[in-house]
Amino acid sequence: MNNTPPSAAGTAASPTQPAQRPRATARLQVIVPVYNEQEVISEFMQRLHQVLDHEPVNWSVLFVNDGSGDDTLAQLQRLNRQDKRVGYINLSRNFGKEHAMTAGLDLCDADAVVIMDVDLQDPPELIPEMLREWQNGYDVVYATRRERQGETALKKATAHGFYRLMNRLGEIPIPKDTGDYRLLSRRAVAALRQLRERNRFMKGLYAWIGYRQKGILFDREPRAAGNSKWNLAKLWRFAIDGITAFSTVPLRFATWIGLVVAAFAFVYGLVIIIKTLLHGNDVPGYPSLMTVILFLGGIQLMAIGVIGEYLGRMFSETKQRPLYLIESVQPAEAEERR
Ligand code: UDP
Ligand code: MG
Repeated sequence: MNNTPPSAAGTAASPTQPAQRPRATARLQVIVPVYNEQEVISEFMQRLHQVLDHEPVNWSVLFVNDGSGDDTLAQLQRLNRQDKRVGYINLSRNFGKEHAMTAGLDLCDADAVVIMDVDLQDPPELIPEMLREWQNGYDVVYATRRERQGETALKKATAHGFYRLMNRLGEIPIPKDTGDYRLLSRRAVAALRQLRERNRFMKGLYAWIGYRQKGILFDREPRAAGNSKWNLAKLWRFAIDGITAFSTVPLRFATWIGLVVAAFAFVYGLVIIIKTLLHGNDVPGYPSLMTVILFLGGIQLMAIGVIGEYLGRMFSETKQRPLYLIESVQPAEAEERR
């Protein structure tokens, strides 16, 4: 199976069509990537029912099982049998959250789509407000964290620094303290489906599509159960992915450092020549030589490393592999019955 978006109604929606529909007939699909989340799935569904059963929308959930090794898939199968609103996509292995979300966006078919985490850090209670903003004509309604609870000071600080760095380097401003939790209109989904790059920095892609976007504030709660799938190494890779996908400033940065160092070396050379002419060469100068060699060596390695980061991404881009592979799909019954 390849990843060309299915020619379902979702792709047919041309980006020129209006973003909304009368609310009573509106169909909402909630896309939820899950990876080893057996502890929280049923609680998540309960909360979702509490919130959405009172909303005048025809809603369903599309879980994307991202190669979980625990009981997650069995739970999804059971939910799918018990609850007509639950459907799922089962990926062939763990592809990472960004690719799992892409699979969900490719296969969803609804007037509006909400992407959210399963761990209840994204409170479902926000969805009605998102729906209202969508009714007001917004294509993307994203949730912005007011405060981060239950997260380490290190994670808070790195996240904070990262968004600021991204917005300095990149050309498209990315809203800060904003995760993936958001509502997307049909045409926003259709636009996202056209972005097939392998290095998927979704927060950047959401911003890139443009249209009418609006942020709403919320307090991010600590995880309901289970553990965060992120560690420092993953976060570092994520940050580098984000920067390299949306900015070429680091490439130019290497040039600037090179120029500055070269200019400095030139001036320093002049100083040495003048000193030698005036005072003769009485000191062999080994320490300064070593310093300069090591300094330049370091700068060069760093510059090569920066080029390597981009080259590596070009390599994976040119291979044109599919973004994910699907093992099986089980649509929600509520969807099928239309
Ligand atoms: N997730 C996923 N694939 C992965 C890692 C995570 O689908 O490889 C899902 C996970 O099940 C959860 C969401 O992405 O629904 C966010 O994950 P997590 O809570 O670990 O991230 P955090 O909230 O700490 O940023
Ligand atoms: Mg989480």
